[in-house]
Amino acid sequence: MSVHESKYKGGWYARCDVCGYIQEKPEWQKYDDRAEVWIDMKRDGWSFRKKDGKWMHYCPSCVEAMQSAKRDAEAKKRRAYFEEV
Ligand SMILES: [Zn+2]
Repeated sequence: MSVHESKYKGGWYARCDVCGYIQEKPEWQKYDDRAEVWIDMKRDGWSFRKKDGKWMHYCPSCVEAMQSAKRDAEAKKRRAYFEEV
C-alpha cells in the first residue's frame, strides 16, 4: 500500500492505512492534482502522518479511535497518579 490516492478506474480515491476504508467522491474526479484531494480529505476529517518516511492516511473513524485511545491513555496516567498519592 504505497499510493493511496491514485487514478483508479479513471478516478481518485483515498484509502485508510489502518482499516482499509476507501472513499471516492465525484467532485474529486475533476482534480488534476492529488494535493486538491488532500485538501478535501482534511476537510472531511482525514489525518496524515509521516511514518518511516511514508505518508500514512487515517480515515475519520480511525482518527476518532486514535483520539479516544489517547484520551484513555491520559486518563490511565491520571488514575495511576492519584492511586500513588
Ligand atoms: Zn480507517
